[in-house]
Amino acid sequence: LRVLRRAGVPVRFATVVRRADGDPDLSAVTLAEVGPTGQPVPGTDREVPCDVLALGYGFVPSVELARQAGCAVTWDSPAGGWVVGHDEWLRTSVPGIAVAGELTGVAGAEQAAVEGRLAALGVLRDLGLLDERRAAALADPVRRELRRRRRFVTRVLDRFAPDRAALGSLVTDDTVLCRCEEVRAGDVRRALAANPHLGTANAVKLVTRAGMGLCQGRSCQPGLCQFICTLTGRGPEEVGAFTAQAPVKPVPLRALAVGDALPDTP
Ligand SMILES: Cc1cc2nc3c(=O)[nH]c(=O)nc-3n(C[C@H](O)[C@H](O)[C@H](O)COP(=O)(O)OP(=O)(O)OC[C@H]3O[C@@H](n4cnc5c(N)ncnc54)[C@H](O)[C@@H]3O)c2cc1C
Repeated sequence: LRVLRRAGVPVRFATVVRRADGDPDLSAVTLAEVGPTGQPVPGTDREVPCDVLALGYGFVPSVELARQAGCAVTWDSPAGGWVVGHDEWLRTSVPGIAVAGELTGVAGAEQAAVEGRLAALGVLRDLGLLDERRAAALADPVRRELRRRRRFVTRVLDRFAPDRAALGSLVTDDTVLCRCEEVRAGDVRRALAANPHLGTANAVKLVTRAGMGLCQGRSCQPGLCQFICTLTGRGPEEVGAFTAQAPVKPVPLRALAVGDALPDTP
């Protein structure tokens, strides 16, 4: 922050981007001050000319592969949303699959490495390569380090976790929720009004195509699910997540082709 301020870059806290305008390129954003509940304070809108906008609303763990494998997930908003459930050896609900790092919740690179050590000890123990006492003795200092790191991470996450409900309240019918399929909030609102029995992420996806594009919902899913929560009054657990389909990331056909099955194309 000091570097930014020295360079003359204004730093504003408790401020949110309400709108981004421009046609075809970005030309201005509208900022508003937010109150203690995270809602914009009326009358504080201010337009700022600009040509680049970078937004950050927290990280989202990539749990698709674990979900495809059938691992149970739980909702943990400060940790990024859906995270993979696990026991004290980081074993998931699926026998033979353990997790470490981002899948257990966003917590930074160092915690990921420590969790990796604990998960590895658990695997060796389960394979019978470490007996119970030895595994427990080796795991003890790792668990202590993990507890210490988690205390710090929890404080940071609680402080900086995005206020999903407040962000959801900024959405207007014009807001693009799914960029790939160009689905706007108004489309989702109308779909839910026409089909009041809908209320899950998957159902809304089928009706509106939100989440069916190139990124397969990796960008829009959190925002769309929050919007469904806002409109229906349901919690994230009820709204759920898109079914995790393969491939989890855009894959060029060339990567799937065997040998030289595809000719060279630009
Ligand atoms: C922009 C950004 C800045 C960050 N800054 C910091 C920071 O300053 N300090 C900090 O502590 N943390 C930071 N983090 C978080 C940190 O990067 C993560 O906490 C950490 O990388 C988590 O480790 P991981 O092993 O769980 O996941 P990753 O490091 O993401 O490792 C997952 C690996 O799995 C591979 N993979 C994915 N799918 C497959 C597949 N199907 N088959 C085979 N391999 C696959 C990926 O290629 C990747 O190498 C930052 C993250 C981001 C995105």
